[in-house]
Amino acid sequence: PPPPPPDVIHSFPTRRFRSGIALPLSDRGEEIEALISTLAVGFSEPVKFENRDVVLQLCFGTAVHPHRASSTAELFDRALIALRRAQERHTRAEVFTTELEERLVREVAVEQRLRIGLSEEAVTVAYQPKVCLSSGGISSMEALARWTDEELGFVSPGEFIPAAERTGLIVELGRQVLECALRDVLSLRRTHPGFRVSVNVAPAQLLRDDYPAEVLAALEASGAPPDALELEVVETSLIENIDRAAAIIGELRDHGVAFSIDDFGTGYSSLSYLRRLPVQTLKIDRSFINDMTASDRDAALVKSIISMAHVLDFEVVAEGVETEVQADRLRDFDCDHGQGYLWAKPAPLAAVMRYLDED
Ligand code: C2E
Ligand code: CA
Ligand code: CA
Repeated sequence: PPPPPPDVIHSFPTRRFRSGIALPLSDRGEEIEALISTLAVGFSEPVKFENRDVVLQLCFGTAVHPHRASSTAELFDRALIALRRAQERHTRAEVFTTELEERLVREVAVEQRLRIGLSEEAVTVAYQPKVCLSSGGISSMEALARWTDEELGFVSPGEFIPAAERTGLIVELGRQVLECALRDVLSLRRTHPGFRVSVNVAPAQLLRDDYPAEVLAALEASGAPPDALELEVVETSLIENIDRAAAIIGELRDHGVAFSIDDFGTGYSSLSYLRRLPVQTLKIDRSFINDMTASDRDAALVKSIISMAHVLDFEVVAEGVETEVQADRLRDFDCDHGQGYLWAKPAPLAAVMRYLDED
């Protein structure tokens, strides 16, 4: 994990100031680069503010006239588009391009339609079973949001989840998915006692003060017991706010809600650090499982992640298992559970119920 930032940053709220510079340039690319470097160097030293050192971070968006804009106002708008991109990517500078503009138009459309879709409860939930690798039994499934919009058609979660996170709509989306998942797991429990559902939680949801209360209220309203629910959280969001995350997770765990770390291996992956969190399960990211059969090094990596996780008392789920060869390898490595197209793709509840009954 990165060292904590120096105290000076904590004592000030983060503020954003924006300003525009219009310049006549002869050779565009190089002069812009040089200007950015000069400004960055100029602002690299902390500045004194009310006797404190304040660190400034500069972020640039650039657009060039006449190729990219027909008026000064348009030029600045386009520079702002590039700036937004630089801020999203945490890069120092980005240049406006028409692809960037098209992407932004699409993003705005997705954000607007998603707002409408959520108000009409148009987001549905698909479920994917988790399979016990030793017995082949299935006692849990992951809830995954699905959305087909009247105007945009099918939009993948890879596109609308980030849109929901940017706009704050993730809180409403998460609430709807949770409520649906709890209703569905309750009805599944009638024929499959002890069945569980896991629901993905975005960092922006988990770190809200009223998150535990919201989950407990949803459990209460649905009538599903807390042990029917598992929440999946991505490790990066936890590392940055580990104490807060540990408190929130601890509070819900005291009520019987289970937790797993999603996409394990893609972030800091410090197992000893994660041990500070009251979490039971690690889900090894799909990319490792994918590479495992092609490369011995990756197989060794998966094997050691599994054995270290076991030493630390985590259960392990392998994500994105697509072939029997992968499943066999994972069994050899003592992996507890698998999830992937090999067994079932995410599907509506009725299809999952049929799948379970065939089993
Ligand atoms: P995730 O939580 O890692 O979910 C697993 C993703 O892998 C799902 O993609 C699933 O369809 C896909 N998958 C499962 N098995 C296989 C396989 O064998 N091969 C391959 N190639 N893919 C497999 P999906 O449904 O597109 O979701 C993408 C991501 O969107 C999820 O990744 C999760 O981070 C996010 N997401 C989905 N629903 C929600 C939600 O309700 N709330 C939040 N916060 N995030 C969600
Ligand atoms: Ca997940
Ligand atoms: Ca995952």
